Amino acid sequence: MHLRYSYRIYPTAGQRAVLARAFGCARVVYNDALAARKEARKAGQPYPRSTDLQKLVITAAKKTPERAWLASVGVDPLIQSLRDLDTAYRNFFDSVSGKRAGRPVGLPRFKSKRDNRQSLRFTRNGFRIRSNGKLNLAKIGDVRVKWSRNLPVDPSSVTIVLDAAGRYHAGFVVDVEPEPLPEASAEVGIDLGLTTYAVLSDGTVIDNPRFLRRAEKKLKAAQRELSRKAKGSRNRAKARIKVAKAHAKVADTRMDWLHKQTTRIIRETQAVYLEDLNVRGLARGPLAKSVHDAGWSTFRRLLEEKAARYGRTIGIVHRAFPSSQLCSACGHRDGPKPLHVREWACGACGVLHDRDLNAARNILAAGQADRLNAPGGPVRPGVAIPRQARPVERGTRLGDLQPTGVRAAGAGGIPRL
Ligand SMILES: [Zn+2]
Repeated sequence: MHLRYSYRIYPTAGQRAVLARAFGCARVVYNDALAARKEARKAGQPYPRSTDLQKLVITAAKKTPERAWLASVGVDPLIQSLRDLDTAYRNFFDSVSGKRAGRPVGLPRFKSKRDNRQSLRFTRNGFRIRSNGKLNLAKIGDVRVKWSRNLPVDPSSVTIVLDAAGRYHAGFVVDVEPEPLPEASAEVGIDLGLTTYAVLSDGTVIDNPRFLRRAEKKLKAAQRELSRKAKGSRNRAKARIKVAKAHAKVADTRMDWLHKQTTRIIRETQAVYLEDLNVRGLARGPLAKSVHDAGWSTFRRLLEEKAARYGRTIGIVHRAFPSSQLCSACGHRDGPKPLHVREWACGACGVLHDRDLNAARNILAAGQADRLNAPGGPVRPGVAIPRQARPVERGTRLGDLQPTGVRAAGAGGIPRL
């Protein structure tokens, strides 16, 4: 399996200048190739092959006065730039034909000098890690790296990224064997909340971290500052960098925290069940800010990646599953509850429930039942259930439920419960 290991790097002023030129060259090659494909399409010609494009926008272009400067950077990142374009097209075609699940992918777009993220990819021949720990990039030189953790094996490629806050990162792709952890007995259901970050079916409460709130306050202050500066002024440019830095700080802090939470959960439990929240759908609604802040989709992605790596199972319970309406003790469906109702007593058996904990327990039960009912028996460990997971089926406690009439996001909708 492929994993990405990212590190902060500190190019010198001279190296930054060379990198800036290389970013520009990679972008121009990408845009030229995209333009060539668009023109071919307009002229009704067949889709140009990658090798032909490479000759056109790199080899031949270097010999023209307008593109002679392409020769000043290594050829490897330029070829990788064309590969990225191929990937972008492939994703588009697969999305149109229905081969690719998830959000529809649009046609590749031209890159701009003003994009927030500039990048450059080197394959194995284009970089080397020196014995002194520096990262050698072809035609750029030895760059200082902050090795925040060890690389497990030799990386197959590295992407150099410049973000809006002016920071440089090196993202290495490494191919590692899965390393299953000793089997754990615990399984948990997770309810993602708004007042708390998440509640686990074993009673663990994960709170929204306070340090994140502090970083966000700084970000808001920086944004206010920016909005007061005159357009096009130097001070506005400075304020914009400040905002970008504050953004980066929030993102880093959140990521770090999410890594810690997900690692702990994966270590301690054999199977994790989550609700298939339609995060994209929610993000457009009134809860937008909280949803984005919570970073739920990242939380889930990290869980899935770590599960695959460490031999754990992730099960996604369909989002139409009424996890907050069912009594986890007796299975009685107690009807919808407004968000402010944090506790309720079951109308059938009288058990007093904490809303989130009860939901987490229901998610656990539904996930386990779903897994047992899956065609071919329980899902193999380490194989994440695909995004559009099958809904919970009869044979759980849901047999007596009324049809919900709720339609799921994405293709297919849901069968009636
Ligand atoms: Zn009950």
